[in-house]
Amino acid sequence: MSSKRPLQPLNDVQLNKANIQSPTTVKTPIKGAISKPDAGKKKKREKLSSLCKTPPSIVKNRHGRGYRRGHFLGEGGFARCFQMKDDTGRTFAAKTVAKASIKNEKTKTKLLSEIKIHKSMSHPNIVEFIDCFEDDVNVYILLEICPHQSLMELLKTRKIITEAEARFFMVQVIGAVKYLHRRKVVHRDLKLGNIFFDPHMNLKIGDFGLATIINSAHPRRYTICGTPNYIAPEVLGGKDVGHGFEVDIWAIGIMLYAMLFGKPPFQSKDVQVIYERIKNNDYKFPPDSLVSLEARQLIRDMLSTDPYQRPSMDQVLEYDWFKCGSFPSHITTESLKQKPKNLAFITKEESMINFANCKQQVGINDVPKHPVEILRTDLESERPRTLLPHSLSPDNTKNKYKEVSPVNIKPYKSKISNQLSKASYDNKMVYMLSESLSETLENIKLIETGQLQPDPKLVQKPQLVSKWVDYSNKHGFAYQLSTNSIGVLFTEGHTVLKFQDRSDIFLIHPNEETGWKVDHFQREQIPKDLSNEMQVIEFFDKYMTAHLSDVSSGEKHDQNGGVFLRRYTRDDNGIMFELSNGSYQFNFKDHHKIVLSEYGHYITHITPNKEIETLPLDYVLKNGNFFETPDDYFTVKYNFMKHVLREKISI
Ligand code: ADP
Repeated sequence: MSSKRPLQPLNDVQLNKANIQSPTTVKTPIKGAISKPDAGKKKKREKLSSLCKTPPSIVKNRHGRGYRRGHFLGEGGFARCFQMKDDTGRTFAAKTVAKASIKNEKTKTKLLSEIKIHKSMSHPNIVEFIDCFEDDVNVYILLEICPHQSLMELLKTRKIITEAEARFFMVQVIGAVKYLHRRKVVHRDLKLGNIFFDPHMNLKIGDFGLATIINSAHPRRYTICGTPNYIAPEVLGGKDVGHGFEVDIWAIGIMLYAMLFGKPPFQSKDVQVIYERIKNNDYKFPPDSLVSLEARQLIRDMLSTDPYQRPSMDQVLEYDWFKCGSFPSHITTESLKQKPKNLAFITKEESMINFANCKQQVGINDVPKHPVEILRTDLESERPRTLLPHSLSPDNTKNKYKEVSPVNIKPYKSKISNQLSKASYDNKMVYMLSESLSETLENIKLIETGQLQPDPKLVQKPQLVSKWVDYSNKHGFAYQLSTNSIGVLFTEGHTVLKFQDRSDIFLIHPNEETGWKVDHFQREQIPKDLSNEMQVIEFFDKYMTAHLSDVSSGEKHDQNGGVFLRRYTRDDNGIMFELSNGSYQFNFKDHHKIVLSEYGHYITHITPNKEIETLPLDYVLKNGNFFETPDDYFTVKYNFMKHVLREKISI
């Protein structure tokens, strides 16, 4: 298609030529008019995104990969967003910018800067950048899809949200912003409308259109930009004042106020009035509101006129507000429609765990290392040469394997075991773990070379670790199996296993001859020195049933058959479980799970929607993927799994 005016084609979106330094002189901001909004300006803003016509039904990237266009998702000042599906059925959001709206070098530089900055980000609470390409009329920025819209739409429906929900949201936003700031990026347009929900109701910061880099060449920024209600006072101070990371903290303060009180603090119909109020720090807490004093204190500090008086991201998390009330383990889609019902039942102790877990998930790791040990595993050797997406890259695993057992265990104090030395338990346990791993890898090799064909008639859904809580800094690692039995692998190395609706328990502890030894106790025989363990297991039982979503699709096995978790390994890519029945379960960061069961004979895929497919391994290898539930990164993940299994043998 040719347009009337010949346009400078962006061609291969030459990021190398992008100038990510924005000019130091004050230029017209792309969005958020700073002066009085007049009709002319409004029209112009509308025009930019309206120049973007609906893309063709199939758009191809530069490698010829086709994306089928789906429905319209939303519109910003600059771009329109459409759903796009690739040939495997995976859905994305394509932020579509009309080339006709890229009228000059400055706009082009801005767009390339947005792409370059966004592309370099990889954080669970930042919208994932997938790809970027163009056709004759548009530039497409392919992003992770956020199907539940943004915090703005949620607030439109709900008016206000509970403090419990706000605590959870704040930790996720702070985790992402801390990540940005550590990389010297200021977002400069944080607002409810730019914070999206992924399918699992986790928040994702998007729209890097105004983001910029602060470095020694540019210790402060001078471009006046932002969205009126969220603009920090120092930005309004004029072109000579300059601003830095603190503008994002201010904007988070505005968001927290808006979430708890239903409107931004400096709200007015007249933009000039908003600016005057911001400059004078002229806002009030509504007198009839029940919002806690702790929340008000945090907002007050984040909305300090002096940017240097505002708390840092780490300091924000120290505020009492995070600890003075309920903190949910996760948010469900119920929040989109109404005040969630179950929030009142979260105990103080559960809230503390949830807060700690939430911080850990967003990369704010203040959990003491002991007794979780970081092993110095050299992963340089035999690293698979596949092109991994960043989140799965084995590069990330270097020296980062964490595990609880069998390192750092203390023998369980019982009459039999306390006579044995710790070294012998370790050796026997390590030996047994390695034996299982070797057998599995040997089988995989035979299957790959066609020398072994698992019997398709014997396909059985493996037992799964369906829920888990890593509380190893205090008690241990708690898990629920798809049989509904609950286990806790205590940091000392022993496990207590309890079946659903049964009062008897199993104590599994390290043993010199067999690796592990199982003792069975009826309720009335449970030794007194296990009372602590019993309390912990009862607590986790209640906690997991109430708060964690189940991996498996509701199907339950009736028999546990004595299966327990022997070891788990966490790293940046997810978590791997080694079960006592020769199953290896990998929970990847993208919420897909793959299990190699029966020592490598069968393979199971559990999708984020909890669809489960179990097949003989050779079927899946011949097909190159699962049949009903193909995974975009199957080969990458499969190679990665083999790599981890190999690495674990030598530990
Ligand atoms: P602009 O830079 O033009 O402001 P935005 O990044 O704000 O563009 O995107 C415009 C709109 O597109 C958003 O308001 C939202 O409705 C939709 N959108 C953007 N990113 C996504 C996404 N990852 N998933 C779903 N919808 C999105």
